[in-house]
Order: sequence, then C-alpha cells, then structure tokens
Amino acid sequence: MSGTWHGGAAAVVTLTFDVDAEAPVLAHGRRFAGHASTMSHQAYGPDVGVPRILDLLDDTGVPATFFVPGWVAERRPGLARSIVDRGHEVAHHSYGHRPPTTMTPEEERADFERALAVFDAQNVPILGHRAANWQASWLTPTLVAEHGLRYDSSLMGDDRPYHVETPAGRLVELPVHWSLDDWEQYAFLPEPRVGAVIESPRKVLEMWQDELDAMRHYRCLFNLTNHPFLSGRPSRALALRRLIEFARARGDVRFSRCDDLARAADADPSLASRRLAPPEPDGYPGG
Ligand code: ZN
Repeated sequence: MSGTWHGGAAAVVTLTFDVDAEAPVLAHGRRFAGHASTMSHQAYGPDVGVPRILDLLDDTGVPATFFVPGWVAERRPGLARSIVDRGHEVAHHSYGHRPPTTMTPEEERADFERALAVFDAQNVPILGHRAANWQASWLTPTLVAEHGLRYDSSLMGDDRPYHVETPAGRLVELPVHWSLDDWEQYAFLPEPRVGAVIESPRKVLEMWQDELDAMRHYRCLFNLTNHPFLSGRPSRALALRRLIEFARARGDVRFSRCDDLARAADADPSLASRRLAPPEPDGYPGG
C-alpha cells in the first residue's frame, strides 16, 4: 500500500497541539493583557501543558505537530526549538492569532509573512499552516502555497486529505472538524467568553474513541486538535494518553506528523481535488 496517503492503515492519526498561549485572548482586545488570572490561565499552556505533553509523547513514542503563532514563538524564544529538538514538527499558526476572515487581504499577508520571519530567524523549518480559529479566508490557501509551504490544516471539506488547487499552486489539505477539537469540550473563560464548557474527560475520550473506530471503518484522517492550556490539565492529559493506547491496541492505526502525512498525500494521485472558490451568491436571497 505504499504510495497511498494511509500506507495501508485503517485510519491515520495526527495529534496536533495549537500552542496559542495568550494570543487568542488578546485577539479579543489588548486590554485583556491587564487580566492577571486570564493571562496566567493562557500561559499555563506553554509553561506547564507543553512540557507535560512532550513527556507524554516521549512515553508513548508518538510524533506530533505543534501549531505555534509567531507572536508566541517570538515571546518564548526557546519554545519552538525545544519542540523540534524532541522530534516533533512546528507549523505556522498565524502571527497574532487574528482570524483571517477578520483581516483585509493586506493585513492577512503581513501577518502571515511576519510569522514566517520569526520561524526563519529561529531556524525552525515550516511546512504547514493552520488558520487562527480555523477561520481561513479564500486567500489563505493561496498564501500558504505562494510561500512554498506544503499543506494547510484549516478547512473541513472532507475527512481524508485532499488536494486544493490555488492560483499559486497545489496544496495538500489536512482537514479538521470541531468534533475533534478540545476547545469545544474544555474551554471556559468568563471574559472574553471564548467558551463555557468543562466536560468530563471520560465523555470526551468515549466520543473520540467512537470517532476513531468509525474513521477506521471509512479509512479517514483522525486529525485531533488539542490546546496545551486546555488538554495539558491532568485528567485531560491522561485521557489523551488513554486515547493513544486505545488507538495502538486496535493494531491498524498509524500515527503521523502532519508534514510526513502531507508528503505521502502529495504523492497520492487517488486523492480528491477540490476547487478553491466561494459559492456564487447570485440568486441567493438576502443581502
Ligand atoms: Zn489557535
């Protein structure tokens, strides 16, 4: 089964960690820098969550991908390098974690390039990108291709990798979905109100196990997104460990970093190719 994106596995698991730290909160307003409890809640991600998750990945022998905003990497100069040195991938997650859909094309381009410059200065190789909040614009995939990156992981048009044709060339899309994101399960902040749930990790584990089994049935990409400030917390980290053990025990699941999967997907001509264009609103009622 060589030459296929899945390499013969029933499902491929990409464990991804979005090391957002303070950035998504500051994107709601710089005034939140003055909220000590909120800022410490976010700093827990890189300070406590990331080391704990790196140890967990070492223990289980699983490679992972860490999407890091350039602003976060810049403020913590050893962070991205420490992840790469442990055998994992660091990928582009905007500069300031402002959603592309809230920026002008010029602002989005400047933000995108500013993050690339940070990783370049830190000698951290970048092959992939994920839009802040998964709120990509129609320009986003083109920017990714134009800057020589190989894949994006922000769109939701499939549950297997697919090819996206952009004006700047072809990209691999490693699609995401809200059901495989810890934010919807664990994010709670009174202000700004980025989430209002604290679910049981047992419920989350059960949900993700069921999804993985269904994805084994349909041979899909189980692209899991965790945030160290959320899933670095003890019971959640242990639930993640049990999920890894569950996947291992199935015997037909393969773990991959996103860059390695994107290389395999790039070489797989059987993958679907999707057009990058907004729906034509002509005839749609309303303004
Ligand atoms: Zn993020």
